[in-house]
Amino acid sequence: MDLLHLNQLAQGVRSLEESITLIERDILSGRNAIQYLAVMVDQASAEDADMEIAIANAGLPLGFSVPLKPSKRRVADVADEEVASAFRYLLELFRIADKRRRIQCGAPNCGHWWHQDLSDPQILRAVEDMFASIRQRQH
Ligand SMILES: [Zn+2]
Repeated sequence: MDLLHLNQLAQGVRSLEESITLIERDILSGRNAIQYLAVMVDQASAEDADMEIAIANAGLPLGFSVPLKPSKRRVADVADEEVASAFRYLLELFRIADKRRRIQCGAPNCGHWWHQDLSDPQILRAVEDMFASIRQRQH
């Protein structure tokens, strides 16, 4: 799951359950995804009040013990059996924080690709081209 995939999930243009199935099949991909999400949540400036809403929305199991204020380091300590729950929670937290961010930003008239409509094929092509050229520069 890359950044595009995660942002599409947050926008609701991709199936969450499909991604959960993926995580349950491949725990390492889930671990990578929650690491990304911890950074995204931080960059979107999630607030304390967002966490309560995220908990309510994510439908977490009883006894869920994932750190509410995520950081990359703490997310790395999440137990295997809690990775899927952590994913649901962090995605929800990002969705809430980023929604506010998007309004402050004046999207879609801002320069952030993740604030654009990620269900639009033309925008997707531009985002994929951008990632491809970044990858090319790295090699
Ligand atoms: Zn923006």
